Amino acid sequence: MAEDTSLEDFLDGGDKSEDGGENGTSARDETTETESEASDAEASTDGVDPAVTTYAWSPDGAACAECGEVVERRWTQDGILVCGACKSW
Ligand SMILES: [Zn+2]
Repeated sequence: MAEDTSLEDFLDGGDKSEDGGENGTSARDETTETESEASDAEASTDGVDPAVTTYAWSPDGAACAECGEVVERRWTQDGILVCGACKSW
Protein backbone atom coordinates (compact mmCIF):
# COMPACT_ATOMS: atom_id res chain seq x y z
CA MET A 1 0.00 0.00 0.00
CA ALA A 2 2.76 2.34 0.85
CA GLU A 3 4.37 1.58 -2.47
CA ASP A 4 1.15 2.29 -4.40
CA THR A 5 0.76 5.63 -2.71
CA SER A 6 4.29 6.81 -3.32
CA LEU A 7 4.20 5.59 -6.92
CA GLU A 8 1.01 7.58 -7.63
CA ASP A 9 2.46 10.60 -5.96
CA PHE A 10 5.56 10.30 -8.05
CA LEU A 11 3.61 9.90 -11.30
CA ASP A 12 1.30 12.78 -10.49
CA GLY A 13 4.15 15.04 -9.66
CA GLY A 14 6.00 13.99 -12.78
CA ASP A 15 3.05 14.72 -15.06
CA LYS A 16 2.45 18.15 -13.61
CA SER A 17 6.08 19.01 -13.51
CA GLU A 18 6.73 18.09 -17.14
CA ASP A 19 4.84 21.23 -18.07
CA GLY A 20 6.25 23.20 -15.16
CA GLY A 21 9.80 22.17 -15.89
CA GLU A 22 10.67 19.47 -13.35
CA ASN A 23 12.84 17.92 -16.03
CA GLY A 24 14.87 21.08 -16.23
CA THR A 25 15.17 21.20 -12.47
CA SER A 26 16.34 17.62 -12.08
CA ALA A 27 18.71 17.98 -15.00
CA ARG A 28 20.12 21.10 -13.39
CA ASP A 29 20.55 19.22 -10.11
CA GLU A 30 22.54 16.49 -11.81
CA THR A 31 24.70 19.05 -13.56
CA THR A 32 25.35 20.88 -10.32
CA GLU A 33 26.42 17.72 -8.55
CA THR A 34 28.69 16.76 -11.42
CA GLU A 35 30.19 20.22 -11.58
CA SER A 36 30.96 20.40 -7.88
CA GLU A 37 32.66 17.03 -8.05
CA ALA A 38 34.63 18.18 -11.09
CA SER A 39 35.48 21.43 -9.34
CA ASP A 40 36.95 19.56 -6.43
CA ALA A 41 39.11 17.51 -8.79
CA GLU A 42 40.15 20.60 -10.73
CA ALA A 43 40.88 22.51 -7.56
CA SER A 44 43.39 19.93 -6.40
CA THR A 45 44.91 19.81 -9.90
CA ASP A 46 45.19 23.61 -9.98
CA GLY A 47 47.46 23.46 -6.99
CA VAL A 48 49.98 21.53 -9.10
CA ASP A 49 49.59 23.33 -12.42
CA PRO A 50 51.34 26.67 -11.70
CA ALA A 51 54.61 24.99 -10.77
CA VAL A 52 54.53 23.01 -14.01
CA THR A 53 53.52 25.97 -16.14
CA THR A 54 56.32 28.25 -14.95
CA TYR A 55 58.90 25.68 -15.92
CA ALA A 56 59.49 24.25 -19.39
CA TRP A 57 61.88 21.49 -20.31
CA SER A 58 62.85 20.80 -23.93
CA PRO A 59 65.01 17.68 -24.44
CA ASP A 60 66.36 19.07 -27.72
CA GLY A 61 66.81 22.53 -26.31
CA ALA A 62 64.84 25.66 -27.06
CA ALA A 63 65.83 29.28 -27.57
CA CYS A 64 65.56 31.67 -24.68
CA ALA A 65 63.14 34.44 -25.55
CA GLU A 66 65.43 37.00 -23.95
CA CYS A 67 68.97 36.22 -25.16
CA GLY A 68 68.37 33.48 -27.75
CA GLU A 69 70.56 30.97 -25.92
CA VAL A 70 69.40 27.41 -26.64
CA VAL A 71 68.82 25.68 -23.34
CA GLU A 72 66.96 22.60 -22.16
CA ARG A 73 65.33 24.30 -19.22
CA ARG A 74 63.46 27.57 -19.42
CA TRP A 75 61.25 29.43 -16.99
CA THR A 76 58.23 31.60 -17.56
CA GLN A 77 58.92 35.24 -16.83
CA ASP A 78 56.56 38.05 -17.81
CA GLY A 79 54.78 35.65 -20.18
CA ILE A 80 57.91 34.52 -22.05
CA LEU A 81 60.25 31.57 -21.63
CA VAL A 82 63.73 32.55 -20.61
CA CYS A 83 66.90 30.66 -19.71
CA GLY A 84 68.21 30.39 -16.16
CA ALA A 85 70.67 33.23 -16.78
CA CYS A 86 67.91 35.64 -17.85
CA LYS A 87 65.44 34.55 -15.22
CA SER A 88 65.23 37.01 -12.36
CA TRP A 89 65.44 34.84 -9.28
ZN1 LIG B 1 68.43 33.88 -21.75
